[in-house]
Amino acid sequence: MTSIPRREFISISTKATAFLLMPSPLATFLNYNAMTNKNHFDVIIIGGSYAGLAAAMALGRALKKVLVVDDGKPCNRQTPHSHNFLTNDGKAPAEIAALANQQVSRYDSVSFLSGRAITAEKTEAGFKVLLAGREIFTAKKLVFATGIKDLLAPISGLAECWGISVIHCPYCHGYEVRNEKTGILGNGDTAFDFTKLISNWAKDLTVFTNGTATFNSDQIEKLLEHRIEVIDRQIEKLEQSDGHLRHIIFKDGTSAAIKALYAPAPFEQHCKIPESLGCEMTEEGYIKIDSSLETTIKGVFAIGDNASKMRTVANAIAMGTSAGMMISKKMIMEAF
Ligand SMILES: Cc1cc2nc3c(=O)[nH]c(=O)nc-3n(C[C@H](O)[C@H](O)[C@H](O)COP(=O)(O)OP(=O)(O)OC[C@H]3O[C@@H](n4cnc5c(N)ncnc54)[C@H](O)[C@@H]3O)c2cc1C
Repeated sequence: MTSIPRREFISISTKATAFLLMPSPLATFLNYNAMTNKNHFDVIIIGGSYAGLAAAMALGRALKKVLVVDDGKPCNRQTPHSHNFLTNDGKAPAEIAALANQQVSRYDSVSFLSGRAITAEKTEAGFKVLLAGREIFTAKKLVFATGIKDLLAPISGLAECWGISVIHCPYCHGYEVRNEKTGILGNGDTAFDFTKLISNWAKDLTVFTNGTATFNSDQIEKLLEHRIEVIDRQIEKLEQSDGHLRHIIFKDGTSAAIKALYAPAPFEQHCKIPESLGCEMTEEGYIKIDSSLETTIKGVFAIGDNASKMRTVANAIAMGTSAGMMISKKMIMEAF
């Protein structure tokens, strides 16, 4: 799937845009800085997917000068259909993002830059952000809407199926595969609890432990009671075509026909800048935020998947909108 389309910059003068398109990034920054002095923003939002764009809309509507920096790698980019987001149920993720982009682009004070932020540091007046290509931008407040990165099990074929027939969440995709022969990849207490949940959607369910099962005898009994088989053979690969799972092939040469496989994955932060700025993290690996969505570093906010377990487009947008409103109000009060 292609990345979300981004305009290089909007609502910056044509002259500045021309300089930004010059071949040398350093020359670009120097010229741009000298000619326009438009490298300073009220708020820089790093990450311009659902959470970031929602924050940009609320801030743009509050007349704040905003820069959205995004390198086009939202976590759901491989999934063909996004579900459980009212008004957009079943749409392609990129279609939702394109519409969001188009609507935020209407606000003159919001500018977009396609690229990766690589460092950020606190200054007396706020924050300085360095982008890949060496452009530097400054802002009074910083918002991270950078998402998380799934660390997929190193099983051949799994990455190709991710978001298509290998799924992480029943609330996003369980309804669509409710009648399919379904597997769960996992083991032990976490997999047992997850299996209980998934049994709501899947009636033909098998747990693949990919090696010796670590369920206790009560758990095994309960699984049998619900006619849920446990297969502990080691997995060689997933046989698939265009991301659609056909068989799990085991190392002993046997196979199991399967249409959908739940494989919840551990994750890491997609962007390490918050940690290097000194933002505290939770034990589970999310950025720690308070009820204003502010991190433990004053003036730095985190929204969406990077700071919340409720991993949905709707939640990312809700957090973005709330952050945009709260940050702008804070700035209005501070400036009055
Ligand atoms: C396979 C899959 C399927 C899903 N299906 C559904 C579904 O059906 N329904 C649903 O509601 N939810 C679904 N989700 C969850 C949903 O996609 C996320 O909750 C949502 O994308 C979170 O939005 P976000 O803006 O926080 O992060 P993301 O959408 O992940 O976006 C983060 C953005 O930040 C950018 N970024 C990160 N670091 C930097 C940096 N340093 N510089 C510049 N840019 C940066 C990334 O490139 C990316 O564009 C799915 C998730 C996955 C993994």
